[in-house]
Amino acid sequence: MNNSSIITLNKEAVKSNINFLRKKFCKNVKISSVVKANAYGHGIEQIVPLFENEGIDHFSVFDYNEAAKVQKCLSTPASIMIMGWISNKNMEDTIKRGFEFFVFNISRLQKALHYSQKHQVKAKIHIEVETGMNRLGINLKELSILLDIINKNPQNFIVKGFCTHLAGAESISNYKRIKEQIKKYKKMLLILKENGIVPQYRHIANSAASFVYPETRMDLVRIGIMQYGFWSSPETFMYYIRNKQKKTDPLQRILAWKSKIMSIKDVKPGEFIGYGMSFLAQSNIKVALVPVGYSGGYNRSLSNKGKVLIHGQQCAVIGTVNMNMFMVNISRISEPKIGDEVIIIGKQYDLEIKVSAFSNISDELNYEVLAHLPKEIKRKIIKNT
Ligand SMILES: *Cc1c(COP(=O)(O)O)cnc(C)c1O
Repeated sequence: MNNSSIITLNKEAVKSNINFLRKKFCKNVKISSVVKANAYGHGIEQIVPLFENEGIDHFSVFDYNEAAKVQKCLSTPASIMIMGWISNKNMEDTIKRGFEFFVFNISRLQKALHYSQKHQVKAKIHIEVETGMNRLGINLKELSILLDIINKNPQNFIVKGFCTHLAGAESISNYKRIKEQIKKYKKMLLILKENGIVPQYRHIANSAASFVYPETRMDLVRIGIMQYGFWSSPETFMYYIRNKQKKTDPLQRILAWKSKIMSIKDVKPGEFIGYGMSFLAQSNIKVALVPVGYSGGYNRSLSNKGKVLIHGQQCAVIGTVNMNMFMVNISRISEPKIGDEVIIIGKQYDLEIKVSAFSNISDELNYEVLAHLPKEIKRKIIKNT
């Protein structure tokens, strides 16, 4: 475990975000909490019990290993849905353990059938259809073959869901494509009906779609980024507040990332700071060392550009971000001490370093910044900031 920095998770923010989402959707729309990529960097082990505590009983992950991890953290049984990767070896356990999973081709259905017959356990499947993203999903032609196999083996399958994924609901420029996808999905749903199959959950929405295209909410929404307190894109937020009286953000960030000053040094004018010559001191400068580098999740593109908070003031990153350290200019801080708190992401007094402050500089998505937070950093749950 790397303890040169710490990630804190705000319990109140979790509650507030889930309540906000619940109020927005109808009572009969189930929220599936998407906790892939280590719960968007927040930490599966810590986040799952927090969500569970707010009444979430449906979780979505990308692969089998994440599903197993979620199950280990639960205190009461909940639905766990694998949206992506299951190795051949893991398919057997997926079925034995009752995980739900997406079926996006015939070969996966056949594997599932094989293990279901072997163990006399029904496979809980979500039929994922191709509607225009051209990533994963059964196309119209294959659908009848798939339905035929399901109908011939009623003792082996439970059709938990019928779903698709939209190709960029967070951007209005995709409007026409998304609308086409919804239409195509509904057409394919009719075919399902004609074949006598009624899925428990019809679902196509992620965070952005659930707000921008309310008709996509159906029976279940797969909510990732928003439950962590982030909008999918600035556009999605603008769309939400466009006709609201209050223009404030109803979402609360759960996560903060903090470190401490490891060392302090005075540098004279005319001296370069750190590797190479990217930062030249033009006056007397006080430099603080922060023991986090690009190996610890602090992107190198923040060299000479990033900002942190110390004593409630913004301090600039100076010089290049190293493998395990970066330096900041603390000349304006009065009486800085070794061990003083350094906010890398989060609030201190009136100021905040946002994930977007990172992503704007490093040209990453907020999703990317979060997903890159190393697993090794300790996560700690706090009541409030
Ligand atoms: C990641 C993912 C989601 C959640 O997306 P957000 O934009 O984070 O809400 C939903 N569905 C699928 C298939 C996904 O892969």
